[in-house]
Amino acid sequence: MKTLPTGSVIGILGGGQLGRMTAMAAARLGYRCHIYCPESEAPALDVCAFHTQGDFDDEGKLAVFARSVDVVTLEWENVPLHALDVIAQYTPVHPGASVLKIAQDRGLEKSFARKVGIGTADFTLVNSSDELEEAIKNYHLPVLLKSTRMGYDGKGQVKIVTSAEARAAWVEMGSRHGIVEALVDFACEISVIVARREDGKTVAYPPVQNTHRNHILNETVAPAPLSRDILDQAVQTAIHMAEELGVIGLLAVELFVLKVPDKDGQIVLLNEIAPRPHNSGHWTIDACSCNQFEMLVRAVCGLPLGSARPHHRAVMHNIVGDESDRFAMWLADPSACLHLYGKKETRDGRKMGHVTFLKEVWRD
Ligand code: AMP
Repeated sequence: MKTLPTGSVIGILGGGQLGRMTAMAAARLGYRCHIYCPESEAPALDVCAFHTQGDFDDEGKLAVFARSVDVVTLEWENVPLHALDVIAQYTPVHPGASVLKIAQDRGLEKSFARKVGIGTADFTLVNSSDELEEAIKNYHLPVLLKSTRMGYDGKGQVKIVTSAEARAAWVEMGSRHGIVEALVDFACEISVIVARREDGKTVAYPPVQNTHRNHILNETVAPAPLSRDILDQAVQTAIHMAEELGVIGLLAVELFVLKVPDKDGQIVLLNEIAPRPHNSGHWTIDACSCNQFEMLVRAVCGLPLGSARPHHRAVMHNIVGDESDRFAMWLADPSACLHLYGKKETRDGRKMGHVTFLKEVWRD
């Protein structure tokens, strides 16, 4: 892969905070970013050199955008695959449509993981409420019914406690395709972010532990306070998934840590992947010399990957809704690194920023 010289333009699909922080990291390396998104106002637009306001099904605008940039990446994994196909006629897109197709569909994602030997919760694909009623006969209740697409922050997910609830759950889930999934009795939830270049070189940040509030990530603790053996299994699983998918860029892998190893000796199960920067990697901005956003830029521009070894332990807290009114409190704390995304409207459940607290110096 050729290295893109400084001054090149990186196209980013999506204008949210992940695009904003990618554009800031890109600027540090002398690149300029061109954001393509449907909105006229979005967090990334404050910090990018160019903006095209367009829908993801506007082939004409996508083609003009693609011709004006040197490489394209994305900050939102639900970009329609057709948009990527249009762009790829003119400019390299990382990650590509084959990766995105799998990441957009919980069924494909989990089937792919299984195929390459990575454990997941037991699941069954269901395409009607009749199929759902049939499938749950094979599970101990309760189970989760999840829509295969557009599920994030707990959206499109319904718990079924008794078989009588199946039909109502199907309606509530609100999709024509779903998966029934066994409940995992996990000890904790962790994630690993892997960067991979086109030539196959990878680096992985240390696994972190995540806790949620109202289905939204609340806190990330880096590193996850787990044994070396579990941390190693998590990193190996994430790298294996990135290699098998052939990701160029980033892959965030969310995992459950089981209370006891399963029958195959695995202690981690894959829950979800995202081929883009991830909320659980925001701590790397303040605790690593090369943060996840710069790592993405390096990977898609053909630069050497940076070090994923942190210099400090850290705890990241998401600032959600009107909690952002308390920003002065964090500004007064010398251990707090505050990041606000410049969103004009505060709404319940909206991610307004995050704050990272630096802890002890990192020692391996
Ligand atoms: P998801 O949208 O699949 O990432 O799920 C959102 C959250 O629901 C996860 O972070 C877990 O806390 C919980 N969850 C999802 N799947 C399961 C499962 N199979 N067993 C237990 N908890 C789950």
